[in-house]
Amino acid sequence: MTDLILFWHRRDLRLRDNAGLAAARQRSPKVIGVFCLDTNLLERDDIAPARVTYMIGCLQALEKSYREAGSQLLFLKGEPAKVPELAKALNAKAVFWNLDVEPYSQDRDRFVRESLQAAGIEVANFWDQLLHAPEDIRSGSGTPYTVYTPFWKNWSNQKKDDPYPILEGAKGLTSEELEQAKAVGVCPLPTAKELGFDWQNPLVIEPGELAAYEKLEEFCDGAIADYQENRNFPFVSGTSQLSAALKFGAIGVRTVWAKTVEQMEAARSDETRDSIRVWRQELAWREFYQHVMYFFPELAQGPYRTPFKDFPWLDNDEHFEAWCEGRTGYPIVDAAMRQMNEIGWMHNRCRMIVASFLTKDLIIDWRKGEKYFMQKLIDGDLSANNGGWQWSASSGMDPKPLRIFNPASQAQKFDSEAEYIREWVPELRSLDTEELVTGKILPLDRDRCGYPQPIVDHNQRQKQFKELYSKQKAKAGES
Ligand SMILES: Cc1cc2nc3c(=O)[nH]c(=O)nc-3n(C[C@H](O)[C@H](O)[C@H](O)COP(=O)(O)OP(=O)(O)OC[C@H]3O[C@@H](n4cnc5c(N)ncnc54)[C@H](O)[C@@H]3O)c2cc1C
Repeated sequence: MTDLILFWHRRDLRLRDNAGLAAARQRSPKVIGVFCLDTNLLERDDIAPARVTYMIGCLQALEKSYREAGSQLLFLKGEPAKVPELAKALNAKAVFWNLDVEPYSQDRDRFVRESLQAAGIEVANFWDQLLHAPEDIRSGSGTPYTVYTPFWKNWSNQKKDDPYPILEGAKGLTSEELEQAKAVGVCPLPTAKELGFDWQNPLVIEPGELAAYEKLEEFCDGAIADYQENRNFPFVSGTSQLSAALKFGAIGVRTVWAKTVEQMEAARSDETRDSIRVWRQELAWREFYQHVMYFFPELAQGPYRTPFKDFPWLDNDEHFEAWCEGRTGYPIVDAAMRQMNEIGWMHNRCRMIVASFLTKDLIIDWRKGEKYFMQKLIDGDLSANNGGWQWSASSGMDPKPLRIFNPASQAQKFDSEAEYIREWVPELRSLDTEELVTGKILPLDRDRCGYPQPIVDHNQRQKQFKELYSKQKAKAGES
């Protein structure tokens, strides 16, 4: 009899270039996919409706791909403990899955692994969402990296694997086995709305493996060549918008890397080669933040640096609400927050601007911003988001910690024609570009446009933050 292998999908919602799935198919043609709509995750209070809608779209596409490959994708809803129950009911020979760095995922996997092994079912695990497993990138002294630049040097010099073959020629369940699966709770895929997430706007990024691949092709055939120049301008489509696909694994990282190799070989100028290199550095930031989350899971709980452990944040609730709703009176900040509220995605430059504003101008605990981002972002991801926030707050692993962004200088440099501001703060469209980028808008004009006065003074707050920071550093014994 053909061995039945259950493949548990989590953040690898694709059939192509999937390390664990390819290994499962090599072992047996009878590979059945399973995805558990984990209520421990879905019932958290930091889940974005846009993200769940994107994930459900990816699962719909994956279900179809499984049918085309000759097998099935099964859905469970509830505790991940249902996965071993399903494996037992189907008399599975083994359960395969790809590993994850997040603390919750590691605890969950340990539990599921133990219950499968107790039932005599084999478990096989693989690193798939990273080009290099955390354990494979170590400093000269064998310790994990805590600083990006040496991590990048080591990581970029390691040989990268080729993409894995797609799942094909698979065999599905018999009708009898399908009945057994239903008896342990296998159900049809619910909609995001049925799960309690109502996202009314169109998705900014089309879900599914095919769409992700097309996005990669489009980016590599065009914008990647000018990435170094254009990536900082929020009104220019200069970045890949692949973050949601990478978060859910709608695309494989080896496929992404292979595409950069192709582009590098075809590049005709040093500028293009530099741009491709800069984009690769962003992929490495993604891996760096996962690397440190794996080795320092305490990052998920709070600040890494001692001066921030008991930082006297002002935490003014009205200021926080104004920031969330894009009503701070700083046009570039408000434009960015409204973009995220409306479409579930925000440009990286703007993520840095609003994060600096929340922590350094409003002096509000970065963890509040981190959570708000997770409640809104289509690509919300613990490691990247936590890394981005700790970088912006200066509380993380970072050799040059104190960064304070001036919203006016940022807008003057990166939205010099105020196109981004005008798009997202329409009530200000009639004002001069100079007023919009400097934020120097007369109180009367603000009233006339129905736009708020600045809720704080940047220069005064910058000074206040620096004083608090110096005191905290002295208390922690940092020079
Ligand atoms: C405060 C803050 C919060 C952030 N939260 C998230 C988040 O929740 N999820 C997320 O994926 N990214 C996050 N980022 C990183 C970055 O803003 C997004 O990855 C990027 O804007 C996504 O757009 P893109 O796909 O067009 O990126 P591109 O510029 O095309 O980059 C390619 C890929 O590299 C990765 N990447 C790029 N920049 C970073 C970075 N700084 N850190 C980690 N990975 C990166 C992403 O996977 C991205 O898709 C955050 C950054 C900051 C400053």
